[in-house]
Amino acid sequence: MKKIILKKGKERSLLRKHPWIFSGAIEKSENDIAVGETVEVLSSSGVFLARAAFSPHSQIRARIWTFDPEEKIDSDFFDKKITQALRYRESLPNLVGERSLRIVNSESDGLPGLIVDRYENILVVQFLSAGTEQNRKLILESLKKIENISVIYERSDTDARKKEGLTLSAGIIQGELPDRQIKIIESGINYNIDIETGHKTGFYLDQKLNRRILKKYAAGKRILNCFSYTGGFSLAAIAGGAKEITNIDSSREALETLNLNMNLNNMDIGRSKNICGDVFRELRYFRNSGDKFDLIVLDPPKFADSQAKMEKAAKGYKDINYQAFRILEEGGVLFTFSCSGLMQPELFRKIVADAALDAGRKIRFAEQLFQSPDHPFGGEFPEGLYLKGVIVIAE
Ligand code: SAH
Repeated sequence: MKKIILKKGKERSLLRKHPWIFSGAIEKSENDIAVGETVEVLSSSGVFLARAAFSPHSQIRARIWTFDPEEKIDSDFFDKKITQALRYRESLPNLVGERSLRIVNSESDGLPGLIVDRYENILVVQFLSAGTEQNRKLILESLKKIENISVIYERSDTDARKKEGLTLSAGIIQGELPDRQIKIIESGINYNIDIETGHKTGFYLDQKLNRRILKKYAAGKRILNCFSYTGGFSLAAIAGGAKEITNIDSSREALETLNLNMNLNNMDIGRSKNICGDVFRELRYFRNSGDKFDLIVLDPPKFADSQAKMEKAAKGYKDINYQAFRILEEGGVLFTFSCSGLMQPELFRKIVADAALDAGRKIRFAEQLFQSPDHPFGGEFPEGLYLKGVIVIAE
Protein backbone atom coordinates (compact mmCIF):
# COMPACT_ATOMS: atom_id res chain seq x y z
CA MET A 1 0.00 0.00 0.00
CA LYS A 2 1.29 3.49 -0.86
CA LYS A 3 2.18 5.80 2.00
CA ILE A 4 1.89 9.42 3.00
CA ILE A 5 4.02 10.90 5.76
CA LEU A 6 2.84 13.78 7.92
CA LYS A 7 4.87 16.77 9.06
CA LYS A 8 6.13 16.74 12.61
CA GLY A 9 3.33 17.49 15.08
CA LYS A 10 0.61 17.09 12.47
CA GLU A 11 -0.45 13.72 13.88
CA ARG A 12 -2.17 15.52 16.77
CA SER A 13 -5.65 15.72 15.26
CA LEU A 14 -5.45 12.11 14.14
CA LEU A 15 -4.59 10.98 17.63
CA ARG A 16 -7.87 12.66 18.61
CA LYS A 17 -9.55 10.57 15.87
CA HIS A 18 -10.43 13.51 13.65
CA PRO A 19 -10.99 12.09 10.13
CA TRP A 20 -9.38 14.78 7.91
CA ILE A 21 -5.81 15.43 6.78
CA PHE A 22 -5.29 18.84 5.19
CA SER A 23 -2.79 19.28 2.37
CA GLY A 24 -0.52 21.44 4.56
CA ALA A 25 -0.07 18.62 7.07
CA ILE A 26 1.62 16.31 4.59
CA GLU A 27 5.41 16.16 4.43
CA LYS A 28 5.67 13.61 1.65
CA SER A 29 3.41 11.41 -0.42
CA GLU A 30 4.45 8.62 -2.75
CA ASN A 31 4.21 9.21 -6.48
CA ASP A 32 1.29 8.15 -8.63
CA ILE A 33 -1.32 7.64 -5.96
CA ALA A 34 -4.65 7.29 -7.77
CA VAL A 35 -7.62 9.52 -6.97
CA GLY A 36 -9.36 7.94 -3.99
CA GLU A 37 -6.77 5.20 -3.50
CA THR A 38 -6.38 3.87 0.03
CA VAL A 39 -3.06 4.91 1.54
CA GLU A 40 -1.27 4.31 4.81
CA VAL A 41 -0.73 7.45 6.89
CA LEU A 42 2.49 7.59 8.90
CA SER A 43 3.72 10.12 11.44
CA SER A 44 6.97 12.01 10.80
CA SER A 45 8.75 9.31 12.81
CA GLY A 46 7.23 6.53 10.71
CA VAL A 47 4.54 5.33 13.14
CA PHE A 48 1.31 3.98 11.59
CA LEU A 49 -1.58 6.37 12.22
CA ALA A 50 -4.40 5.43 9.87
CA ARG A 51 -5.62 4.20 6.49
CA ALA A 52 -7.16 6.94 4.43
CA ALA A 53 -8.56 7.76 1.00
CA PHE A 54 -6.22 10.04 -0.93
CA SER A 55 -7.78 13.02 -2.64
CA PRO A 56 -5.14 14.88 -4.68
CA HIS A 57 -7.42 17.74 -5.81
CA SER A 58 -8.93 18.67 -2.47
CA GLN A 59 -7.63 20.81 0.39
CA ILE A 60 -8.76 17.88 2.53
CA ARG A 61 -6.05 15.72 1.02
CA ALA A 62 -7.00 12.49 2.77
CA ARG A 63 -10.03 11.22 4.68
CA ILE A 64 -9.57 8.49 7.26
CA TRP A 65 -11.23 5.12 6.83
CA THR A 66 -9.70 3.48 9.89
CA PHE A 67 -7.22 4.05 12.72
CA ASP A 68 -6.84 0.29 13.20
CA PRO A 69 -3.68 -1.14 11.57
CA GLU A 70 -5.41 -4.54 11.32
CA GLU A 71 -8.46 -3.28 9.44
CA LYS A 72 -8.57 -3.62 5.65
CA ILE A 73 -10.74 -1.46 3.44
CA ASP A 74 -12.70 -4.22 1.75
CA SER A 75 -16.25 -5.48 1.44
CA ASP A 76 -16.30 -6.57 5.10
CA PHE A 77 -15.31 -3.06 6.12
CA PHE A 78 -18.21 -1.44 4.25
CA ASP A 79 -20.65 -4.14 5.41
CA LYS A 80 -19.64 -3.47 8.99
CA LYS A 81 -19.90 0.32 8.77
CA ILE A 82 -23.30 0.19 7.11
CA THR A 83 -24.61 -2.35 9.61
CA GLN A 84 -23.38 -0.11 12.45
CA ALA A 85 -25.07 2.90 10.85
CA LEU A 86 -28.38 1.01 10.60
CA ARG A 87 -28.10 -0.24 14.17
CA TYR A 88 -27.50 3.29 15.47
CA ARG A 89 -30.71 4.49 13.82
CA GLU A 90 -32.67 1.54 15.16
CA SER A 91 -31.55 2.58 18.65
CA LEU A 92 -33.22 6.00 18.37
CA PRO A 93 -36.66 6.04 20.00
CA ASN A 94 -37.76 9.16 18.11
CA LEU A 95 -37.30 7.42 14.78
CA VAL A 96 -39.27 4.25 15.52
CA GLY A 97 -41.55 3.50 12.59
CA GLU A 98 -39.97 6.11 10.31
CA ARG A 99 -39.20 4.59 6.93
CA SER A 100 -37.70 7.71 5.37
CA LEU A 101 -34.51 8.84 7.00
CA ARG A 102 -30.79 9.31 6.48
CA ILE A 103 -29.10 5.96 7.02
CA VAL A 104 -25.48 6.98 6.36
CA ASN A 105 -24.18 10.42 7.32
CA SER A 106 -20.66 10.64 5.97
CA GLU A 107 -17.81 11.17 8.48
CA SER A 108 -20.16 10.81 11.44
CA ASP A 109 -20.91 7.22 10.39
CA GLY A 110 -17.25 6.48 9.66
CA LEU A 111 -17.71 6.75 5.88
CA PRO A 112 -16.35 10.17 4.81
CA GLY A 113 -18.17 11.47 1.75
CA LEU A 114 -20.96 8.90 1.69
CA ILE A 115 -24.57 10.02 2.12
CA VAL A 116 -27.39 7.52 1.92
CA ASP A 117 -30.99 8.62 2.38
CA ARG A 118 -33.77 6.09 2.52
CA TYR A 119 -37.23 6.92 1.21
CA GLU A 120 -39.32 3.87 2.08
CA ASN A 121 -37.92 1.17 -0.25
CA ILE A 122 -35.75 3.56 -2.28
CA LEU A 123 -32.16 4.49 -1.45
CA VAL A 124 -30.67 7.73 -2.71
CA VAL A 125 -26.87 7.70 -2.63
CA GLN A 126 -24.28 10.47 -2.88
CA PHE A 127 -20.62 9.63 -3.42
CA LEU A 128 -19.11 12.98 -2.48
CA SER A 129 -15.44 12.13 -1.95
CA ALA A 130 -12.69 10.58 -4.04
CA GLY A 131 -12.54 7.65 -1.63
CA THR A 132 -16.23 6.81 -1.89
CA GLU A 133 -16.09 7.12 -5.68
CA GLN A 134 -13.09 4.78 -5.84
CA ASN A 135 -14.92 2.23 -3.66
CA ARG A 136 -18.38 2.69 -5.14
CA LYS A 137 -18.70 -0.95 -6.22
CA LEU A 138 -17.98 -2.31 -2.75
CA ILE A 139 -20.25 0.29 -1.14
CA LEU A 140 -23.11 -0.55 -3.50
CA GLU A 141 -22.70 -4.25 -2.81
CA SER A 142 -23.12 -3.52 0.90
CA LEU A 143 -26.13 -1.29 0.31
CA LYS A 144 -27.80 -3.95 -1.82
CA LYS A 145 -27.78 -6.24 1.23
CA ILE A 146 -30.15 -3.91 3.12
CA GLU A 147 -33.58 -5.51 3.44
CA ASN A 148 -36.63 -4.30 1.52
CA ILE A 149 -34.82 -2.03 -0.92
CA SER A 150 -36.00 -2.15 -4.52
CA VAL A 151 -34.45 0.98 -6.02
CA ILE A 152 -31.06 2.66 -5.70
CA TYR A 153 -30.73 6.11 -7.24
CA GLU A 154 -27.57 8.22 -7.38
CA ARG A 155 -27.60 11.99 -6.74
CA SER A 156 -23.87 12.73 -6.84
CA ASP A 157 -24.64 16.01 -8.58
CA THR A 158 -23.50 18.48 -5.95
CA ASP A 159 -20.64 20.97 -5.90
CA ALA A 160 -18.86 18.96 -3.21
CA ARG A 161 -17.81 16.58 -6.01
CA LYS A 162 -16.05 19.37 -7.88
CA LYS A 163 -13.78 20.11 -4.91
CA GLU A 164 -12.73 16.45 -5.05
CA GLY A 165 -11.98 16.72 -8.77
CA LEU A 166 -14.91 14.46 -9.63
CA THR A 167 -17.50 15.01 -12.33
CA LEU A 168 -21.19 15.20 -11.42
CA SER A 169 -23.16 12.03 -11.74
CA ALA A 170 -26.84 11.11 -11.27
CA GLY A 171 -29.22 8.36 -12.31
CA ILE A 172 -30.62 4.93 -11.61
CA ILE A 173 -28.24 2.32 -10.20
CA GLN A 174 -30.75 -0.43 -9.45
CA GLY A 175 -34.45 -0.93 -10.19
CA GLU A 176 -36.76 1.72 -11.52
CA LEU A 177 -38.39 4.79 -10.02
CA PRO A 178 -42.14 4.17 -9.90
CA ASP A 179 -43.05 7.76 -10.76
CA ARG A 180 -41.50 11.15 -11.22
CA GLN A 181 -42.70 11.93 -7.71
CA ILE A 182 -42.68 9.24 -5.09
CA LYS A 183 -44.77 9.32 -1.94
CA ILE A 184 -43.46 8.96 1.58
CA ILE A 185 -44.97 9.21 5.03
CA GLU A 186 -43.05 11.18 7.64
CA SER A 187 -44.37 11.43 11.20
CA GLY A 188 -47.77 10.39 9.84
CA ILE A 189 -47.89 13.06 7.11
CA ASN A 190 -47.74 12.28 3.37
CA TYR A 191 -45.23 14.04 1.14
CA ASN A 192 -44.42 13.90 -2.57
CA ILE A 193 -40.68 13.72 -3.15
CA ASP A 194 -38.93 14.37 -6.42
CA ILE A 195 -35.80 12.28 -6.15
CA GLU A 196 -34.41 13.24 -9.55
CA THR A 197 -34.58 17.02 -9.24
CA GLY A 198 -35.48 17.83 -5.63
CA HIS A 199 -33.07 19.63 -3.29
CA LYS A 200 -30.46 17.47 -1.56
CA THR A 201 -31.71 13.92 -2.21
CA GLY A 202 -35.29 15.18 -2.58
CA PHE A 203 -36.37 16.26 0.89
CA TYR A 204 -35.02 18.01 4.01
CA LEU A 205 -35.04 14.92 6.20
CA ASP A 206 -32.85 16.77 8.70
CA GLN A 207 -35.84 18.83 9.94
CA LYS A 208 -37.91 15.76 10.84
CA LEU A 209 -38.01 16.20 14.63
CA ASN A 210 -38.22 19.98 14.39
CA ARG A 211 -41.35 19.65 12.26
CA ARG A 212 -42.87 17.51 15.01
CA ILE A 213 -42.06 20.22 17.56
CA LEU A 214 -43.61 22.90 15.34
CA LYS A 215 -46.77 20.81 15.13
CA LYS A 216 -47.17 21.17 18.89
CA TYR A 217 -46.89 24.96 18.74
CA ALA A 218 -49.27 25.43 15.80
CA ALA A 219 -52.82 25.09 17.13
CA GLY A 220 -55.04 28.05 16.30
CA LYS A 221 -52.16 30.17 14.97
CA ARG A 222 -51.68 32.36 11.91
CA ILE A 223 -48.36 31.13 10.60
CA LEU A 224 -45.80 32.45 8.13
CA ASN A 225 -43.42 29.82 6.74
CA CYS A 226 -40.45 31.52 5.06
CA PHE A 227 -38.31 29.43 2.69
CA SER A 228 -41.07 26.83 2.74
CA TYR A 229 -39.74 24.58 -0.05
CA THR A 230 -42.36 21.83 -0.52
CA GLY A 231 -44.06 22.58 2.79
CA GLY A 232 -42.35 20.33 5.33
CA PHE A 233 -43.15 22.73 8.15
CA SER A 234 -46.42 23.92 6.61
CA LEU A 235 -48.03 20.49 6.59
CA ALA A 236 -46.87 19.79 10.12
CA ALA A 237 -48.45 23.11 11.15
CA ILE A 238 -51.78 22.33 9.50
CA ALA A 239 -51.71 18.84 11.05
CA GLY A 240 -51.18 20.58 14.39
CA GLY A 241 -54.29 22.69 13.93
CA ALA A 242 -52.91 25.93 12.52
CA LYS A 243 -55.63 28.43 11.61
CA GLU A 244 -53.93 29.49 8.40
CA ILE A 245 -50.52 29.42 6.82
CA THR A 246 -48.68 31.65 4.37
CA ASN A 247 -45.74 30.09 2.52
CA ILE A 248 -42.95 32.03 0.85
CA ASP A 249 -40.43 30.46 -1.50
CA SER A 250 -38.63 31.68 -4.59
CA SER A 251 -39.21 28.34 -6.33
CA ARG A 252 -42.55 28.06 -8.11
CA GLU A 253 -42.03 24.34 -8.53
CA ALA A 254 -41.53 23.83 -4.79
CA LEU A 255 -44.78 25.70 -4.09
CA GLU A 256 -46.63 23.58 -6.66
CA THR A 257 -45.44 20.45 -4.86
CA LEU A 258 -46.52 22.07 -1.60
CA ASN A 259 -50.07 22.30 -2.99
CA LEU A 260 -49.90 18.67 -4.12
CA ASN A 261 -48.79 17.76 -0.61
CA MET A 262 -51.76 19.59 0.91
CA ASN A 263 -54.12 17.64 -1.37
CA LEU A 264 -52.35 14.38 -0.66
CA ASN A 265 -53.26 14.83 3.01
CA ASN A 266 -56.80 16.09 2.31
CA MET A 267 -55.87 19.37 3.95
CA ASP A 268 -58.02 22.42 3.33
CA ILE A 269 -56.10 24.35 0.68
CA GLY A 270 -58.17 27.40 1.65
CA ARG A 271 -56.12 27.66 4.82
CA SER A 272 -52.87 27.89 2.87
CA LYS A 273 -51.60 30.77 0.77
CA ASN A 274 -48.43 30.74 -1.35
CA ILE A 275 -46.20 33.66 -2.26
CA CYS A 276 -43.57 33.00 -4.89
CA GLY A 277 -41.00 35.64 -4.06
CA ASP A 278 -37.93 36.79 -2.18
CA VAL A 279 -38.26 36.48 1.60
CA PHE A 280 -36.07 39.54 2.23
CA ARG A 281 -38.51 41.64 0.22
CA GLU A 282 -41.78 39.97 1.23
CA LEU A 283 -41.06 40.44 4.94
CA ARG A 284 -40.76 44.18 4.31
CA TYR A 285 -44.06 44.21 2.40
CA PHE A 286 -45.79 42.64 5.40
CA ARG A 287 -44.31 45.29 7.65
CA ASN A 288 -45.59 48.02 5.34
CA SER A 289 -49.07 46.52 5.11
CA GLY A 290 -49.28 45.97 8.88
CA ASP A 291 -49.89 42.24 8.51
CA LYS A 292 -48.80 40.24 11.57
CA PHE A 293 -48.34 36.57 12.45
CA ASP A 294 -48.54 34.44 15.59
CA LEU A 295 -45.75 32.11 14.50
CA ILE A 296 -42.99 32.58 11.93
CA VAL A 297 -40.58 29.97 10.56
CA LEU A 298 -37.26 31.07 9.02
CA ASP A 299 -35.39 28.17 7.43
CA PRO A 300 -33.17 29.77 4.79
CA PRO A 301 -30.65 28.03 2.54
CA LYS A 302 -27.00 28.03 3.56
CA PHE A 303 -25.80 31.66 3.59
CA ALA A 304 -22.10 30.85 4.20
CA ASP A 305 -20.05 28.01 2.77
CA SER A 306 -16.69 29.58 3.60
CA GLN A 307 -15.22 31.72 6.34
CA ALA A 308 -14.90 34.57 3.84
CA LYS A 309 -18.68 34.70 3.45
CA MET A 310 -19.47 34.66 7.16
CA GLU A 311 -19.77 38.40 7.65
CA LYS A 312 -22.24 38.78 4.82
CA ALA A 313 -24.10 35.69 6.03
CA ALA A 314 -24.37 37.12 9.55
CA LYS A 315 -25.90 40.29 8.09
CA GLY A 316 -28.39 38.19 6.12
CA TYR A 317 -29.44 36.20 9.19
CA LYS A 318 -29.76 39.36 11.23
CA ASP A 319 -31.87 41.05 8.57
CA ILE A 320 -34.47 38.30 8.18
CA ASN A 321 -34.72 37.80 11.93
CA TYR A 322 -35.11 41.55 12.48
CA GLN A 323 -37.81 41.74 9.82
CA ALA A 324 -39.57 38.74 11.36
CA PHE A 325 -39.60 40.29 14.84
CA ARG A 326 -41.22 43.40 13.40
CA ILE A 327 -44.21 41.43 12.11
CA LEU A 328 -44.56 38.96 14.98
CA GLU A 329 -47.60 39.38 17.22
CA GLU A 330 -47.20 40.01 20.94
CA GLY A 331 -46.39 36.65 22.56
CA GLY A 332 -45.53 35.33 19.09
CA VAL A 333 -43.23 32.40 18.38
CA LEU A 334 -40.25 32.39 16.03
CA PHE A 335 -38.65 29.16 14.76
CA THR A 336 -35.38 30.37 13.28
CA PHE A 337 -32.67 28.21 11.72
CA SER A 338 -29.21 28.34 10.18
CA CYS A 339 -27.83 25.41 8.18
CA SER A 340 -24.41 27.03 7.66
CA GLY A 341 -21.95 24.67 9.34
CA LEU A 342 -19.57 27.54 10.07
CA MET A 343 -22.18 29.41 12.09
CA GLN A 344 -21.79 28.31 15.69
CA PRO A 345 -24.96 27.94 17.78
CA GLU A 346 -23.83 30.59 20.25
CA LEU A 347 -23.11 33.15 17.56
CA PHE A 348 -26.42 32.38 15.91
CA ARG A 349 -28.27 33.05 19.17
CA LYS A 350 -26.37 36.31 19.53
CA ILE A 351 -27.43 37.38 16.03
CA VAL A 352 -31.06 36.54 16.83
CA ALA A 353 -30.82 38.39 20.16
CA ASP A 354 -29.34 41.46 18.45
CA ALA A 355 -32.08 41.38 15.83
CA ALA A 356 -34.71 41.33 18.58
CA LEU A 357 -33.03 44.20 20.39
CA ASP A 358 -32.95 46.31 17.23
CA ALA A 359 -36.62 45.52 16.60
CA GLY A 360 -37.43 46.59 20.17
CA ARG A 361 -38.63 43.13 21.21
CA LYS A 362 -37.86 41.36 24.47
CA ILE A 363 -37.34 37.69 23.80
CA ARG A 364 -36.77 34.39 25.56
CA PHE A 365 -35.03 31.38 24.05
CA ALA A 366 -37.44 28.54 24.71
CA GLU A 367 -35.74 25.65 22.93
CA GLN A 368 -32.47 24.93 21.13
CA LEU A 369 -32.86 22.76 18.04
CA PHE A 370 -30.43 20.72 15.95
CA GLN A 371 -30.49 18.47 12.91
CA SER A 372 -32.49 15.30 13.56
CA PRO A 373 -30.57 12.36 15.03
CA ASP A 374 -30.50 10.35 11.81
CA HIS A 375 -28.01 13.10 10.81
CA PRO A 376 -25.67 12.57 13.78
CA PHE A 377 -22.37 14.33 14.31
CA GLY A 378 -19.47 12.45 15.81
CA GLY A 379 -17.86 13.44 19.11
CA GLU A 380 -14.52 13.73 17.34
CA PHE A 381 -16.07 15.63 14.41
CA PRO A 382 -17.76 18.89 15.48
CA GLU A 383 -17.88 19.97 11.81
CA GLY A 384 -20.73 17.49 11.42
CA LEU A 385 -23.11 19.84 13.23
CA TYR A 386 -24.55 22.17 10.61
CA LEU A 387 -28.24 22.71 11.28
CA LYS A 388 -29.14 24.65 14.36
CA GLY A 389 -32.19 26.60 15.33
CA VAL A 390 -33.92 28.22 18.25
CA ILE A 391 -37.51 28.66 19.27
CA VAL A 392 -37.95 32.20 20.49
CA ILE A 393 -40.94 33.67 22.28
CA ALA A 394 -41.29 37.43 21.93
CA GLU A 395 -43.12 39.61 24.44
N1 SAH B 1 -37.95 24.45 5.35
C1 SAH B 1 -37.83 23.59 4.20
C2 SAH B 1 -36.45 23.64 3.59
C3 SAH B 1 -35.99 25.01 3.14
S1 SAH B 1 -34.70 24.98 1.98
C4 SAH B 1 -38.22 22.17 4.59
O1 SAH B 1 -38.34 21.86 5.79
O2 SAH B 1 -38.41 21.35 3.70
C5 SAH B 1 -34.55 26.60 1.45
C6 SAH B 1 -35.62 27.08 0.48
O3 SAH B 1 -35.42 28.47 0.31
C7 SAH B 1 -35.57 26.50 -0.94
O4 SAH B 1 -36.81 25.95 -1.24
C8 SAH B 1 -35.28 27.70 -1.87
O5 SAH B 1 -36.04 27.65 -3.06
C9 SAH B 1 -35.73 28.85 -1.02
N2 SAH B 1 -35.07 30.16 -1.21
C10 SAH B 1 -33.74 30.42 -1.34
N3 SAH B 1 -33.52 31.75 -1.33
C11 SAH B 1 -34.73 32.35 -1.19
C12 SAH B 1 -35.16 33.70 -1.09
N4 SAH B 1 -34.30 34.73 -1.11
N5 SAH B 1 -36.48 33.94 -0.94
C13 SAH B 1 -37.38 32.93 -0.91
N6 SAH B 1 -37.01 31.62 -0.97
C14 SAH B 1 -35.72 31.34 -1.12
